[in-house]
Amino acid sequence: MTELRTLKVALLGCGNVGAQVARILIEDADALAARTGARLQLSGIAVRNVNAKRDVELPQELFTTDAETLVKDADLVIELMGGIEPARTLILSALRNGACVVTGNKALLAQDGPTLYEEADKAGVQLSYEAAVAGAIPILRPIRDSLSGDRITRVLGIVNGTTNFILDQMDSTGAQFADALAEAQRLGYAEADPTADVEGHDAAAKAAILATLSFHTRFALENVHCEGITSVTAADIAAAKDAGLVIKLLAIAEKLTDADGGEGVSVRVHPTLLPREHPLAAVRGAFNAVFIEAENAGELMFYGQGAGGTPTASAVLGDLVSAARRLVLGGPQRTETTTGHVPALPIAAATTSYYIGLDVADQPGVLARIAQLFAEHGVSIETMRQTIHRDAESNVESAELRIVTHRASEAALAATVEAVKGLDVINSVTSVLRVEGV
Ligand code: NAP
Repeated sequence: MTELRTLKVALLGCGNVGAQVARILIEDADALAARTGARLQLSGIAVRNVNAKRDVELPQELFTTDAETLVKDADLVIELMGGIEPARTLILSALRNGACVVTGNKALLAQDGPTLYEEADKAGVQLSYEAAVAGAIPILRPIRDSLSGDRITRVLGIVNGTTNFILDQMDSTGAQFADALAEAQRLGYAEADPTADVEGHDAAAKAAILATLSFHTRFALENVHCEGITSVTAADIAAAKDAGLVIKLLAIAEKLTDADGGEGVSVRVHPTLLPREHPLAAVRGAFNAVFIEAENAGELMFYGQGAGGTPTASAVLGDLVSAARRLVLGGPQRTETTTGHVPALPIAAATTSYYIGLDVADQPGVLARIAQLFAEHGVSIETMRQTIHRDAESNVESAELRIVTHRASEAALAATVEAVKGLDVINSVTSVLRVEGV
């Protein structure tokens, strides 16, 4: 039997994901060798504290605090430390040394991805990051490889499990945001400082990566319009439910054509209403899913666990096996194709449907005045529902209006809402939410 070549694998980080990657590399060594045609030898694990207790029992002699030296001697480097530095410097150093790199570091990719991609291209090595978006779900490789002969028109993703858990709790129990967040923290779905999740920053980093691969153009974090879920109220959720809708935090990347035929890509993260029958509405708890529309393939949906040490390790190992196979077979490595130059559109140019909740005086002619204002601003109403309320003390009647529009631009909608606020019959605008999938 021919002796298999050995490829040295340096692991940077041994936390939730890194510990599981180390375990699988050791436990499944024979199967991985059979699949790659090389033995993947874990040559060392760089951490901050070599004596810390780990989730998995691993040989103590593998641990080191000297990540730089470990990287210099590796064929494949797995970066699972997180954060910007020293991860960035170590990845660049690995690429310059000719090592293939696998990472799950969406924060780094969203902030400085282009520098890393360019370095990988220059060195002719592979930089893979399947774990950076939607954990275990194979989504980047299908976009980059399987759909590379098609044209993606739109990507809608539930890519943050924490916010999906919180919104799902609010939907199923009627809880307010703060109580649902506390429950998510108690169950370990949300961090003590939940800012990156609830303000949408984590989803925005993933949106930038999804948009870059889907539209073959580099989009950075600053191209992503981002709104989190902290202002979503129990009343919004109840009204949505009543209208047959559900609120999800979506990462959206879609190609739009303006009135002059110019094309651009709108990349955004915001709470979005979806019809309850939409496939993404069925994504409950901390699960993730990505819904893709492509010209030829039509609609596709990818669903699964978006986080967790072992599920995320599956994505990391997939990238590692793929990079190792290429090292064994030889030939150039490819990171991504950024052949397109589609401009990123500002949020004002995005078009979507809207749900608008209004508290109005119950007087004759109010509906007609509101409908006329919408028409004057070029926003067409799809449905308008009215519910009458009587205040028990004052005995004064008011009406709650729920309007769903056809697709309109953000700018037109904003102008309409401003104009509506100026009407003397309007008590308040109770909510303005974007709607997809109607
Ligand atoms: P984690 O549990 O916080 O583990 C981080 C590890 O990196 C620890 O072992 C830590 O060492 C080590 N480390 C951190 N800074 C270091 C430094 N300056 N020098 C040497 N070692 C250092 O992180 P994680 O949850 O496994 O996440 C790792 C990466 O995967 C992140 O980029 C994350 O965004 C991404 N990711 C995670 C998930 C998930 O479900 N957790 C899902 C998708 C993607 P010590 O142990 O000694 O402190």
